[in-house]
Amino acid sequence: MNQVSWQFYRGIDTIGGTVIEIRCGDHRLVFDMGRIFNPAAPVFDAVNPARGIHDLQAMGIAPRIPGLFDDGTDAPGLHTLVAISHSHLDHTGLLPYLRTELPVLLHEDTYRLLRALDDVLDGPHRPLNYQPQPYGSVTEFGPFRITLVQVDHDTPGASAFLIETPDLKFVYSGDLRLHGAHPEWTVQFGELARAFGPDVLFIEGTRALNEDNTGMLFEGELADKLSKVLKGAQAGVYFSYYPRHPERLHSFVDAVRRSGRKLLVQAPHAYIYEAFGGDLDGCAIYGGGMEQWTETARRWVAEKGFEVVRPQDLQGRESTYVVNFDYDRFRDWIDIQVAPGGVFVHSNGSPLGPFDPAWNNMLVWLETLHLQFVSVGSTGHGARGDILSIIDTIQPRVLMPIHSLQPQRIGLPTVNRLMPQYGKVYRADDLAAAKPPTEDEMAPVEAPQR
Ligand SMILES: [Zn+2]
Ligand SMILES: [Zn+2]
Repeated sequence: MNQVSWQFYRGIDTIGGTVIEIRCGDHRLVFDMGRIFNPAAPVFDAVNPARGIHDLQAMGIAPRIPGLFDDGTDAPGLHTLVAISHSHLDHTGLLPYLRTELPVLLHEDTYRLLRALDDVLDGPHRPLNYQPQPYGSVTEFGPFRITLVQVDHDTPGASAFLIETPDLKFVYSGDLRLHGAHPEWTVQFGELARAFGPDVLFIEGTRALNEDNTGMLFEGELADKLSKVLKGAQAGVYFSYYPRHPERLHSFVDAVRRSGRKLLVQAPHAYIYEAFGGDLDGCAIYGGGMEQWTETARRWVAEKGFEVVRPQDLQGRESTYVVNFDYDRFRDWIDIQVAPGGVFVHSNGSPLGPFDPAWNNMLVWLETLHLQFVSVGSTGHGARGDILSIIDTIQPRVLMPIHSLQPQRIGLPTVNRLMPQYGKVYRADDLAAAKPPTEDEMAPVEAPQR
């Protein structure tokens, strides 16, 4: 009766969009609430925006799980807890459609970030029943005991879950890395997870094709690298980053202070940065797009007494500044009359990479305006070798890799593995079929799966 079962609705062979359900008796735990981001084929876009959860479900973007979403379905007698590992849209993009009475377990920094995004940018904008918790807290939910564990990822509040049921123990890694500013958090997660003794480990494999971190900058190297870029710059310097990673702005604040230039930050980004303890002393606000600021952002800028520098104010004075400048501000370069020889620093954020059609468009803008493209970023995901070392530390009874275009690459010859499948309901007995993968089974496949 109380036998535990679990199933994968989304997010096995995609980057994010993870939705896994673990059921035990009349209680179920569902994590995360992500939307897969596929910029090459978004299905719904500015021309055909989704009208609600029904549209997303009809096109296969959101799963149909009775009693979870605002779709008129019910799950009588079933108690549901939703858990969110971190703020990224590929883990939270379905929150705007969640039933508001369902409890949502998340780390208090993830909560703080989602609320700040609601205030000034692109939060879920929904009055959800958030249950923010600190790291190490244990949440009892019927037969479940869920512990939030800190991991290092490129957003605050990133968590892994240790999930205990009367039958089986599960570990969910969330997204994580070992090359960030706090590798010790991820190392400690591995040790805690090993001591927990999981039967099943769900772990991400975003960078399954990158064996190690060769050619990649570590988070801690960014400020020095940026300093060098600023030193060599003759004209304007513009940069984009993902505002859900306020720590990244700190690298820019640090490098710009050393450069003698003045940092201009977009109001929403500055608001989020300050909400996470960022120091904006000596910075001003970039006023491009200020007509789109929310009331909260507008009030905050006024109350703080920030100087607001608008695009036309930059004409002929670009070399005095470093400007936080997202892709959706590129038109401002026309008003700035941007001088040739300036630099655009891409530090993650949109466009996400060459797979994003906006990437090519970005390059056309830069070429037309004679601006130099420089990439100074660091991914939030561990290389394959790092993920395998974490698995080796944890030593789960069975590994089930997810969150990867090539999940078959994530495995160790010493650890039993079961490749997850959509639509299958797993039970404890199914674990007996797990076996260590062979090198052949872990080989890269030619065309990435979708
Ligand atoms: Zn993710
Ligand atoms: Zn993430």
